Amino acid sequence: MLDGSKNLINNTCRQDLGGFAMSNYKIETKCVQGGYTPKNGEPREIPIIQSTTFKYDTSEDMGKLFDLEASGYFYTRLQNPTNDHVAAKICDMEGGTAAMLTSSGQAASFYSVFNIASCGDHVVCSSAIYGGTYNLFAVTMKRMGINFTFVSPDCSDEELEAAFRPETKAVFGETIANPALTVLDIERFANAAHAHGVPLIIDNTFATPVNCRPFEWGADIVTHSTTKYMDGHGAAVGGCIVDSGKFDWTKYPDKFPGLCTPDDSYHGVTYTERFGLEGAYITKATAQLMRDFGSIQAPQNAFLLNLGLESLHVRMKRHCENGLAVAEFLANDDRISWVTYPGLKGDKYYDLAQKYMPNGTCGVVSFGVKGGRAAAEKFMKGLKLAAIETHVADARSCCLHPANATHRQMNDDELAAAGISPDLIRFSCGIENKDDLIADIKQALDNI
Ligand SMILES: *Cc1c(COP(=O)(O)O)cnc(C)c1O
Repeated sequence: MLDGSKNLINNTCRQDLGGFAMSNYKIETKCVQGGYTPKNGEPREIPIIQSTTFKYDTSEDMGKLFDLEASGYFYTRLQNPTNDHVAAKICDMEGGTAAMLTSSGQAASFYSVFNIASCGDHVVCSSAIYGGTYNLFAVTMKRMGINFTFVSPDCSDEELEAAFRPETKAVFGETIANPALTVLDIERFANAAHAHGVPLIIDNTFATPVNCRPFEWGADIVTHSTTKYMDGHGAAVGGCIVDSGKFDWTKYPDKFPGLCTPDDSYHGVTYTERFGLEGAYITKATAQLMRDFGSIQAPQNAFLLNLGLESLHVRMKRHCENGLAVAEFLANDDRISWVTYPGLKGDKYYDLAQKYMPNGTCGVVSFGVKGGRAAAEKFMKGLKLAAIETHVADARSCCLHPANATHRQMNDDELAAAGISPDLIRFSCGIENKDDLIADIKQALDNI
């Protein structure tokens, strides 16, 4: 999704609100009405454009699209109107200037970095990130010649400074890390990134823009696994990338030649010149990466995602309320060895959470059961309401033992660096009644 006339895409995703910009509304209104305003007699709900291709009267008409001289659709691998409306909504929610949907959160993480880093380049990354992202960066993208230096989110300024190299192209971290539940000091990491002339990319999956908008704290690009709270119903895998439009690539043309010099693979366009700071990054990711890798979100899935977004602000409130209630219960039960929940008073990240997420953090609580790995597994078996799933951030409560599942490729040192102990249980509070959730946990503890 790109706003403006000089872009790749159709103007249909620009909302006509009678001169009143969606940015003037509060987050709850953006969740419900962002991205799409039907005109007279048009469908009230975002239509699913189930078409791979789009028809033109003349070859010249289509040629203008390929030359990026006119905006319009031609092939769904590059853009689709349903996806663009939903991307426009998430863009509104984050306060960005352009956004695109991807087939998954993994694709969003990959594109977000690969759009500005190539073989021989380097990225500074928080060590407390999602296991799938760690694998993507440390193994698969390393094979592509991109090197990552992982730093603790709690590292000293000196350690952070020492991680940068001349070939560093970005800094990456998660607002609330999955599953470690560390909170990133976004402002501090943004300042460090900017001092080295590179953008800060934030995976905002767990907080969602309802609870935190990283652009307000200096982040430049935001990614999401929309599979989690945004969809919220375990229905569709998806991802999203949003650009703040604030990072000035043209100040560092040698660092970001892909954005600041002509793209011979795409009609010689120079993205920053043609699309401005507000559109360059997402247009390049669409024209190059989506063209070549094709990780599109199906329009059907974008439609389902939009249904989730409409109630996101209501659900996040309940997820947080249940998360805090469960965390408080666990903190007071002597069969539990430790509890991590950034919204819990006394938590290591409580102060940072209050700064960045004063209205609540997320519904995910981590804890250890006394008796270690064996007791943790018994506890998991005893749960009746919470299902064992590799999923998280869903309307239904679910539960996972990461050392045995998502993070099993890590050795103990890497687990420790990612803030994960072998007995860690990740409990994702759904939107059920909190007393029922606590009763379920209590009986599972009694059962060990
Ligand atoms: C799940 C997740 C991802 C990966 O998203 P998929 O949609 O499963 O590909 C990335 N980041 C975070 C924080 C996640 O929780």
